[in-house]
Amino acid sequence: MRLCFFSDDRLGLVEGPMVRDVTDALEVLPAAHYPYPVHDVFIAGLSSVIDRIRKMPDNGKRLDLHNLILQSPVRNPGKLVAAPVNYLAHLEEAIADEETFSRAHVRRIEETGLFLKATSSLIGAGAAIEIRQLDRRTDHEIELAVVIGSPGRDIAQEKALEHVAGYCIGLDITIRGPEERSLRKSLDTYSVLGPWLVTADEFGAPAGKSLQLDVNGETKQLANTKDLILDVPALIAFASRFYSLQPGDVIFTGTPEGVGPIVPGDVIRAAIATNVASRVSMVHRPASGRNASCRRKK
Ligand code: MN
Repeated sequence: MRLCFFSDDRLGLVEGPMVRDVTDALEVLPAAHYPYPVHDVFIAGLSSVIDRIRKMPDNGKRLDLHNLILQSPVRNPGKLVAAPVNYLAHLEEAIADEETFSRAHVRRIEETGLFLKATSSLIGAGAAIEIRQLDRRTDHEIELAVVIGSPGRDIAQEKALEHVAGYCIGLDITIRGPEERSLRKSLDTYSVLGPWLVTADEFGAPAGKSLQLDVNGETKQLANTKDLILDVPALIAFASRFYSLQPGDVIFTGTPEGVGPIVPGDVIRAAIATNVASRVSMVHRPASGRNASCRRKK
């Protein structure tokens, strides 16, 4: 199943190029009272929501996906966990370019560990990346993003995929430089999740999925998750030894080689293959500073 949020927090079921509005299914979620849960309530209740969608009458009305402004498929993640250099070819390009990649950060993931991106940096596919600090280099990074579905600590690798609700395309937008990753990758709009959630059963095994990112029609990143140094089960196990994982937590699994700068006005197209012989893709138009307007997803 492919589920999106669009317009003003409407829930949609994505069916090819069309979207069925299934917002009424959110009624199964518990009312929240202060202090609010530290997990994402929609992801925690996802199986109930899906059950409700299956029972809802289908009135046949569909919205054209191209006309919708897509929001992040996880609206209130408790944390955005991210993997640094997790593809060997990306490590090699970082080692080779001392000018761009601070030596402090060019180490293997087993040494570096993981880091957190601020949840305030999160946007969906329908919002523009607002590039700030234009005097510095800002890069695109396409990543497979894993959405945790059930809580856990010290999760065994063999059980790890049982904790996954689904997958998205993640863009880990990054200012290059010497500061901590958490700082350089947490500006508003620098974490993109979308275009929708592909549930784990539909997505299938996370290994062997191709990733592609184009800027202005030119392919910059083309890779496959089979080349992850720590694969998805290993990342979940690793992360859960330090953080308790909660429904709606997102793990950005790291970017492959081919990272490069983006500037206001560029058009980014990102795609990840799924197991249903199709690709999920989304388009971004980075804009400058705070004046960027929201753009429609194409
Ligand atoms: Mn990254």
